[in-house]
Amino acid sequence: MSRVYNFSAGPAVLPEEVLKEAADEMLDYRGSGMSVMEMSHRSKVYDNIIKEAEQDLRDLMNIPDNYKVLFLQGGASQQFAMIPMNLMKNRKAGYIVTGQWAKKAYQEAQIYGEAVKLASSEDKTFSYIPDCSDLDIPEDLDYVYICENNTIYGTKYKKLPNTKGHTLVADVSSCFLSEPVDVTKYGVIYGGVQKNVGPAGVVIVIIREDLITEDTLPGTPTMLKYKTHADADSLYNTPPCYGIYICGKVFKWLKKMGGLSVMKERNEEKAKILYDFLDQSKLFHGTVVPEDRSLMNVPFVTGNEELDAKFVKEATAAGFVNLKGHRTVGGMRASIYNAMPKEGVEKLVAFMKKFEEENA
Ligand code: PMP
Repeated sequence: MSRVYNFSAGPAVLPEEVLKEAADEMLDYRGSGMSVMEMSHRSKVYDNIIKEAEQDLRDLMNIPDNYKVLFLQGGASQQFAMIPMNLMKNRKAGYIVTGQWAKKAYQEAQIYGEAVKLASSEDKTFSYIPDCSDLDIPEDLDYVYICENNTIYGTKYKKLPNTKGHTLVADVSSCFLSEPVDVTKYGVIYGGVQKNVGPAGVVIVIIREDLITEDTLPGTPTMLKYKTHADADSLYNTPPCYGIYICGKVFKWLKKMGGLSVMKERNEEKAKILYDFLDQSKLFHGTVVPEDRSLMNVPFVTGNEELDAKFVKEATAAGFVNLKGHRTVGGMRASIYNAMPKEGVEKLVAFMKKFEEENA
């Protein structure tokens, strides 16, 4: 068996321990005589799996009792619609546009009401986070929406926006569980799990209870109401059972590693190795303003498209895969989520040094 260093933005690397454990349990989950893939979501065994997953996530993120944890489907993209359908009571919400995913959410919200662009960093190819300390925020907004870590551009809010009392809704798909969060600062935190938490097919929504109401926009399908899923503890219909089971294993792994503050230290250490190298390199350079750099997604370029392509090709051959940047940015991007070992980043930097020497 040979495993590569996988720098994919998502679906992405998962902890090897988790994959091995799942492999061991594949044919017979703890004496049940079947795989988790084969069992009823209404069985006692599965009920334990989903309940334990929720409890472990609550422990890790210190989620207060007045927040619900929902395991849903439809990807993060479905939340672009569910959020306005469920929360846009005044049909007016504010969006801070810091990348493609925030923009898609902003555009989707326009289907349901007035989406106000509160700030944007599109003028400089989303290479920074706008100053959100004193935005002009209309009184009658239902919520303020952000994408907290911008997967494609590699920026992250280091300070949450001042929403002036409005509910904050955040897409944390690409920074989920990468560091501690104060859940009480948000009305809704959500993310697709396929980057930092588990396999594609699960989206986790952490939502304050008072935001879960019957009062959704007319025509909202039953399946797209938070209340439907909250009332049924994420078992209204068949949930993505196997994906939730793997997420649960990742939560246990995170707990064993020491929790989110330890993950933050590890992630800072890993990112520093790469950013320090980029800052002194004569060939490679980062594309983001230093103060807004993401710990999870690190885009970089040589400034020469042919050389970028050569680098990606040679890196792939050397076992460093999925380094090609998003098609809208070009260059390279190394996603270094929780499960990427420090050694993977060190080896990538060593490879980049060698490439730089050879192509000087
Ligand atoms: N938000 C962010 C920050 C993302 O990175 C992505 C996926 N790359 C999405 C939303 C869309 O996720 P999905 O494919 O699960 O709909």
